[in-house]
Amino acid sequence: MKHELPKLPYSPEALEPYISKKTIEYHYGKHHATYVKKLNGLIPGTDFEDASLEEIILKAEGGIFNNGAQVWNHSFFWEGFSPNGGGEPQGELMQAIEEAFGSYGKFKDEFSEAAATLFGSGWAWLVKNKEGKLEIVQTANAGNPLRSGQTPLLTCDVWEHAYYLDYQNRRPEFIEGFWKLVDWPKAAERFRV
Ligand code: MN
Repeated sequence: MKHELPKLPYSPEALEPYISKKTIEYHYGKHHATYVKKLNGLIPGTDFEDASLEEIILKAEGGIFNNGAQVWNHSFFWEGFSPNGGGEPQGELMQAIEEAFGSYGKFKDEFSEAAATLFGSGWAWLVKNKEGKLEIVQTANAGNPLRSGQTPLLTCDVWEHAYYLDYQNRRPEFIEGFWKLVDWPKAAERFRV
C-alpha cells in the first residue's frame, strides 16, 4: 500500500498571520511530504506493507514507527485548523473540558504550558482517555497517544520546524497563534466518535 500526502483542507496562505505560507511550504510541503516518502521506502517487504497508519502506530518500531506516526500526526495537526478557527468549543466538548480542567481558561493555560515546556521535539495533545475523560499529554518525537489507548482530539506540533521560520525561538508566541486557528467543531467531532 502506498501512503499519500493528504491535501491541505485550505490554501497555503489561509493560516496567516499565525502560520505563514512559507512555513506551510516547508512544514507541509517538505517535512510532512518527506515522512510519507520515507515511510513508502521503508515498508516494502515488511509486515507493514499493507498496514494502515493506525496499525503502524500501534505495532511498529524504529523508522517505520517514526515516519508512519509523523505522517498521521501531521495530517491530524493540519486537519485540526480552520482559517475561521479560534474561539471556544461548544456543547458536549466544552462540558467535558470544564469537568476535567475547571474552565476553558484553565484548560488553555495547562495545554499551553504542556506545549511550551515539552523539552526538545514532540507534540502536545488533548485526548479522551479510556474512561472517556479528557487529559493533556505530551509525546516526544513521533509519539502518538493512540499507542496508549487514548483518542486524540487536538494537537500542537512543537518541533522547531513548526515555528522557527515565523517565530524563531519564541515557541510561546507560536502557541498563542495556534489558539487562533483551532477548529473546535472538528475537535468536537473527534470527541463524539
Ligand atoms: Mn512537524
